[in-house]
Amino acid sequence: MFRLLLIAPPGGGKGTQGHQLAVDYGVPHISTGELLRDHVARSTSFGTRVKPYLDRGDLIPDDLVLGLVQDRLTKPVVLEGFVLEGFPRTLDQALTGYAWASELGLTLSAVIHLTVSEGELVRRLLERGRLTGRSDDTEDTIRHRLALYRRSTDPLLDFYRDRQILVDVDGSGPIPEVTRRIREALAAKGLTPVNAGRAGRAGRSDGTTESQ
Ligand code: ADP
Repeated sequence: MFRLLLIAPPGGGKGTQGHQLAVDYGVPHISTGELLRDHVARSTSFGTRVKPYLDRGDLIPDDLVLGLVQDRLTKPVVLEGFVLEGFPRTLDQALTGYAWASELGLTLSAVIHLTVSEGELVRRLLERGRLTGRSDDTEDTIRHRLALYRRSTDPLLDFYRDRQILVDVDGSGPIPEVTRRIREALAAKGLTPVNAGRAGRAGRSDGTTESQ
């Protein structure tokens, strides 16, 4: 069983790494940001409701995000294992999620916290905004999201640190290098990839992974 939670600031690489780790460990990748952006892209009524929050870089209300996550996590295949990122993002979300998951016996295998300097985060996000036009990757919104992250996420880190399942991993540098560091941290907890071939290729020297 492999239930991994990835925590990282905006631009910290949780989406990129989450995708790769899901492949390596043979489990679904669940990203609240991706689920939300998918709703917005399909113009569902839920998407229309959450779009203003995403555009401003604000957190969407807890009940909305919790509904989204519960709906996704209770699919039978997901109960077996997952890489989750984007939830929880606040201590309240963590406490509610923890109570709910405990009832289902859904304990986490590990929580990986990716650390990246503020300067590198801003550089990465501005570059992504330039390349993809993502609506929240503009300078003012980036600063707002980073400030919000610092405010809401530190207590969350302590919550998992107190439970001794949090591992800090340096998230700076080339993508395959970060993937390697995460795999090492997981191996130290007895968690090994099921897909060794692909895991090996994540270390390609050109800085890319297969998920891109
Ligand atoms: P980033 O971490 O770079 O901001 P994400 O894709 O994880 O990117 O999230 C994008 C946006 O989706 C957030 O700014 C927020 O509006 C919304 N969001 C994602 N997860 C949550 C959550 N757990 N609670 C509230 N809002 C969320």
